[in-house]
Amino acid sequence: MSVDCLFCRIIAGEFGTEFVAENDHAVAFRDIHPQAPVHVLVVPKQHVAAFRSRRELDADGMAGMFALIDEVAKREGIDQGGYRVVTNDGPDAGQTVFHLHWHVLGGTPLTGGFA
Ligand code: AMP
Ligand code: ZN
Repeated sequence: MSVDCLFCRIIAGEFGTEFVAENDHAVAFRDIHPQAPVHVLVVPKQHVAAFRSRRELDADGMAGMFALIDEVAKREGIDQGGYRVVTNDGPDAGQTVFHLHWHVLGGTPLTGGFA
């Protein structure tokens, strides 16, 4: 938990953010600026700054985080049609929140890039 980190504060429930799914290792909530009909962020509960730091998660944390992506895709009804999973690592990739998170995007054919 980092008090300076927006996603740590969301995970702690400070803003009353609704979680669309949760397990022991990660939470999922809707992106505040959706780029697709389904745009959910899957976020490990342990503070890890970015993809490059992912090895700070133990094996259970890593597996739990990816399992929650599977669950979100099923719950949102996009697991059959397909979906995109994106993480931005660092400023040049457009990362704005420095707590590892996965954008899960779908609900429409995704033909273009992701901004
Ligand atoms: P990134 O730019 O990859 O670091 O992604 C950060 C994402 O967090 C952006 O898509 C924002 O729209 C989203 N975001 C920022 N603040 C919130 C919030 N309070 N609740 C939900 N999503 C947020
Ligand atoms: Zn954090």
